[in-house]
Amino acid sequence: QTLDKGLEKSKSSFFSKLTKAVAGKSKVDDEVLDNLEEILVSSDVGVNTTLKIIERIEKRVAEDKYLGTDELNLILREEIAGLLSETNQENTTEFKVPKTGEPYVIMVVGVNGVGKTTTIGKLAAQYKKAGYNVVLGAADTFRAAAIDQLQIWADRVGVPIVKQQMGSDPASVAFDTLESAVKQNADIVIIDTAGRLHNKINLMNELSKVKRVMQKVVADAPHDVMLVLDGSTGQNAFEQAKQFTAATEVTSLAVTKLDGTAKGGVVIGISDQFQIPVRYIGVGEGIDDLQVFNKIEFVDSFFK
Ligand code: GDP
Repeated sequence: QTLDKGLEKSKSSFFSKLTKAVAGKSKVDDEVLDNLEEILVSSDVGVNTTLKIIERIEKRVAEDKYLGTDELNLILREEIAGLLSETNQENTTEFKVPKTGEPYVIMVVGVNGVGKTTTIGKLAAQYKKAGYNVVLGAADTFRAAAIDQLQIWADRVGVPIVKQQMGSDPASVAFDTLESAVKQNADIVIIDTAGRLHNKINLMNELSKVKRVMQKVVADAPHDVMLVLDGSTGQNAFEQAKQFTAATEVTSLAVTKLDGTAKGGVVIGISDQFQIPVRYIGVGEGIDDLQVFNKIEFVDSFFK
């Protein structure tokens, strides 16, 4: 229900545009396809993924000779679900990580303002609720505000946080956090990192140092490198995905602010273009407004 509410704008926008585009037409023809292309692009699916979808539908039009517009919804839905399935194999709504006897380390990256701190706070709350012991690490040390905000979330959720002074070495904070987590027998560590895309080499160096140093404590850390993207920023989100994936190996995505946007298509485009699963979506500012991404629910709400 939250997802439906959260994605209200995206779905009404996408779905109503689609309905308008086929109104009074019985057959999928070039004009319908042109309109569909425009709708997908304006919903922030991204040019590459849009062309991929259009090509697949063209192929089906060619195979079927006659494709009615009443079938278009169904086919489009299948194609989008198919694209999402290539990267999002899991289909769960549960907050769950493997229990291995050592902490499961989630390293969180993303630029300032996308909702990184909020997402970390919400994640900590959900995992705590699911019975995990969570520890936070404030390794985004460039801004005092980033550390303070994370502290506020730690207090709110009631989980321990490891931090140092502003300006300290992010790798050192990450190291301390993992040591402390191991001592406390924590199940999950969430490390906040680099909020700046100042330059690619610095970002790469910083992130790889954080990783290297964490591995001194937990050999296979980080288990997940999660990039947080603001789902309402369209092309900026694509650009950030490009830069972060060039700087480090990103293994999952959290897409925020899908409640306030008509552009939920960014989820489809980014997971397809970068072949990275979307693990979480943010659908509001509240502590419970984070969901494990479920592709079936997502596609359903997109087409309702
Ligand atoms: P950071 O600079 O990336 O750490 O960003 P913050 O976590 O401080 O979030 C920036 C703003 O976005 C705050 O006002 C958050 O409440 C808001 N925000 C974060 N996630 C969501 C979301 O899913 N939906 C909405 N509507 N707002 C969000």
